[in-house]
Amino acid sequence: MMKYKLIIFDADGTLRYCTVPGQPCPNRSGEWELYPDVKEKLASFNWSGPESESGVGYGIASNQGGVGSGYFAEDTAMNLLKDTFVEAFGFNPVEGTILMCPHIPYSGCICRKPEPEMLNGLMRIYNVSPSDVLFVGDRDADRDAASNAGCDFQWVTEFFNRDPETEV
Ligand SMILES: [Mg+2]
Ligand SMILES: [Zn+2]
Repeated sequence: MMKYKLIIFDADGTLRYCTVPGQPCPNRSGEWELYPDVKEKLASFNWSGPESESGVGYGIASNQGGVGSGYFAEDTAMNLLKDTFVEAFGFNPVEGTILMCPHIPYSGCICRKPEPEMLNGLMRIYNVSPSDVLFVGDRDADRDAASNAGCDFQWVTEFFNRDPETEV
């Protein structure tokens, strides 16, 4: 039985990696790939939402500080995240389930992880409690965002059974 009603994913370093050497995140299409274990694992869930029997909701919560730094536009970042979702999950996300913070670090914004606002927003959409939510990520800021939101957290290596030495 599925313990969670909502599973939220970080994007970079969790679902996808950047294929440009030395660049942490994709700035345009063609600069990312899914990790090879993502599709198969995600296909094992029923993503029809917490309203349905054995269903679970989904979301992405991604820091995209490259927007605030001027590397790419906000709509480009969002489109890259939506493309990542579609390739990973195999269907189009419900409107509002892909959230990102476009601000630079230490800007004082309320959304950049480890702030919990993106996770809180997704919980509001699905009307679920923090105890029903799992957040999956690869950084301390992800773990701390989950803690600040009151959600459970799993490292990406654990959720996908990914070798920590996976080189990209
Ligand atoms: Mg990440
Ligand atoms: Zn922000």
